[in-house]
Amino acid sequence: MDLNAILNEINHEIRPLLGQGKVADYIPALATVDPGQFGMVVTTNDGQIYAVGDAEQKFSIQSISKVFSFTLALKADPDALCRRVWREPSGNPFNSLIQLEYEAGIPRNPFINAGAIVVTDSLISHFGGQDQALSALITFIKETADTPDIEMDHKVAISEMHHGYKNISSANLMKSFGNIHNEVDTVVRTYFHHCSVTMTARELARSLLYLSHHGTDPLTGTQHITPAQTKQINSLMLTCGHYNASGDFAYRVGLPGKSGVGGGIIAVVPGKMTLAVFSPALNEYGNSFIGTQALDLFTTKTGFSIF
Ligand code: GLU
Repeated sequence: MDLNAILNEINHEIRPLLGQGKVADYIPALATVDPGQFGMVVTTNDGQIYAVGDAEQKFSIQSISKVFSFTLALKADPDALCRRVWREPSGNPFNSLIQLEYEAGIPRNPFINAGAIVVTDSLISHFGGQDQALSALITFIKETADTPDIEMDHKVAISEMHHGYKNISSANLMKSFGNIHNEVDTVVRTYFHHCSVTMTARELARSLLYLSHHGTDPLTGTQHITPAQTKQINSLMLTCGHYNASGDFAYRVGLPGKSGVGGGIIAVVPGKMTLAVFSPALNEYGNSFIGTQALDLFTTKTGFSIF
């Protein structure tokens, strides 16, 4: 199958849609991103790279970072984590507080904000502090992306610190139930910083190859997690990777995926390849409008869904 031709076709078909959707402006530092960008990359398990559009543009990976933080937390202490975060779709927006109170401070899954904040808390405890947790996370991303060129954007993190009222509220609520072990301020600061990592679509697609190859990087042979843990992460991405649009994403794309409000989406075709798309204008659920459409076109044209 000629994947270059397919990506070019998709690029051509989505162009008329550019202009629809809206960039995330609840984080002021993201409000000025050019909404007219689109990039898409496929990386196969044998190392072929197919790219179109703004594939080399660095962008804020935001909630895609939850896949990396959850991977590290699963490695560190899977049993404790299972008691502190459920594994069910929430059916609610990414920063909702509603379920948290009547479910006694246990978030529905690790990919909604509250769940990722608990994951971050567990990493701070495991690695012995905020700096150590962030450093472990960045080291892991650099290793999986196979590049030293990965950084956090402190301007974006600070911007979110000043405006992330709901995330701070949910951390406080969970603390009141005993499900946050470190200081709330430290936990949300660490969470905002890991969300602020910037990467290109090419780097993202490369970094997720371990999820399409049973936990082992197919190009370096490094085993990051077990095949069972890989199954768990992919299953959670399929059922919970797009907040209250997770069902719609699964219906349209048919792949495990994770979105971020910076406009990125990653997806995994187990055993074959990973995909990353970038287009900053979001739909009403906080997922890239064009990115979702591009992935829908990809699996429809190639048949590379898991179904
Ligand atoms: N840092 C963002 C927040 O907590 C991440 C949300 C997302 O990317 O979906 O609101």
